[in-house]
Amino acid sequence: PAPVHVIGGGLAGSEAAWQIASAGIPVILHEMRGVRGTEAHKGDSLAELVCSNSFRSDDATSNAVGVLHAEMRLAGSLIMACADKHQVPAGGALAVDRDGFSEAVTQAIATHPLITLTREEVTDLPPEDWDQAIVATGPLTAPSLAAAIQARTGQDALAFFDAIAPIVHKDTIDMDICWYQSRYDKVGPGGTGRDYINCPMDEAQYNAFIDALVAGDRLGFKEWEGTPYFDGCLPIEVMAERGRETLRHGPMKPMGLTNAHNPEVKPYAVVQLRQDNALGTLYNMVGFQTKLKYGAQADIFRMIPGLEQAEFARLGGLHRNTYLNSPTLLDPTLTLKGRPGLRFAGQITGCEGYVESASIGLLAGRFAAAERLGQALRLPPPTTAFGALLGHITGGHLVAEEEEEPGKRSFQPMNVNFGLFPPLEPGAITRPEGVKRFRGKEKALAKKHATAARALSDCAAWLEAVTSDVNRQDLSA
Ligand code: FAD
Repeated sequence: PAPVHVIGGGLAGSEAAWQIASAGIPVILHEMRGVRGTEAHKGDSLAELVCSNSFRSDDATSNAVGVLHAEMRLAGSLIMACADKHQVPAGGALAVDRDGFSEAVTQAIATHPLITLTREEVTDLPPEDWDQAIVATGPLTAPSLAAAIQARTGQDALAFFDAIAPIVHKDTIDMDICWYQSRYDKVGPGGTGRDYINCPMDEAQYNAFIDALVAGDRLGFKEWEGTPYFDGCLPIEVMAERGRETLRHGPMKPMGLTNAHNPEVKPYAVVQLRQDNALGTLYNMVGFQTKLKYGAQADIFRMIPGLEQAEFARLGGLHRNTYLNSPTLLDPTLTLKGRPGLRFAGQITGCEGYVESASIGLLAGRFAAAERLGQALRLPPPTTAFGALLGHITGGHLVAEEEEEPGKRSFQPMNVNFGLFPPLEPGAITRPEGVKRFRGKEKALAKKHATAARALSDCAAWLEAVTSDVNRQDLSA
């Protein structure tokens, strides 16, 4: 068969190339390092880890990224095999010797008989005669390719910074304090006028909160990132610094909101949370993009009435990051709509993290290989970590109402987390025998165990179905 072209030999591109070659199809992998560097990479090995050496939790029974590790191992991942081989002690986390890891990936790719590694910068979208191609150029995609992608997808479709507001697991919000209401009861597509969760603050609580924001520990921008204060996307702590009342006139304004638990008392300020995924399990804190350090964020945001016990699916941030508005641009198999055979993979699709980027590379590689071989494209079930993450990228995300925040896109990169998985069937978890207390933390843990077990069993079934497609085709050939 004709080769598949993969652009970018990072975490996603290396994994994609491996998966395609493992299906017996030649690959040409185009990597620019060696010819041109990025602001964050230091060398020219493939799959270089630009910052931490951790792949995070390796617990496949109660941690979503641990489940993703396990699914990737089941699917024959090169990145996981090299990580396992170069593991260093890190408690329950999978951390690696970064040089050993990248060298192992480079070696496996460079010596694979079906993979040709070329060191060159691709400066334009893949030409039409590369009928199967995957763009996996990452958060620091070189400028000319980024410009070409933007020219094709539209000005607003490719972002260069992510301004991320924290995201909270809805079942950790105290609804005895918070209430559902859209400002001025405005009815949106949901049809209820109750689209937001509101957290009320009195004057003393507001003042204490502003003081904590201003005093909180922050991260600086790296020199090459510049200072991306744009489009009204100021970090919340910078807004707080500009004046005590700024937030009360901005994202925390109380106008048009009546506390359903206490209608007589007008809140002094309100924090609003908006539904973040179609399942309704995650809510984001509207306007709360921040450069506060993670530890400071958790402490300060738990001062908000109703969020005292909040668990965060992700904390806020503001980083240099090139990524697509994937839910509108990509189909469920990561193909750019209107350009058959051209897929995107890795962080540029709006996932976040080494493992997530590699896993989306794995899926894109498998989809491209199946397409090249004329096989059916089977999507991983949404109950798997693969499927949950793919769903976040290609469609599970709600698009904000345009008029509400003009020019602002609601799709933000995300790590894999249990909030992206469909809820368990009713009755899926029961009180274990001999356990008296089965509430709160115990119940939450049981939910995680059941979600993880369901994911792994559904992933195994999916991979088996894919293999039997391949066997059937081999027999008929
Ligand atoms: P990359 O691994 O960046 O791979 C993209 C590859 O494409 C690169 O090798 C690049 O040289 C190449 N390339 C780019 N443009 C072209 C072109 N035009 N032609 C040919 N080749 C091209 N995630 C974590 O889990 N933990 C962290 O600690 C962490 N820290 C990060 C720190 C920084 C500064 C950044 C920017 C990101 C960080 N991330 C981290 C996020 C992310 O997981 C990593 O960036 C990850 O490497 C993304 O994988 P990828 O394959 O999508 O992109």
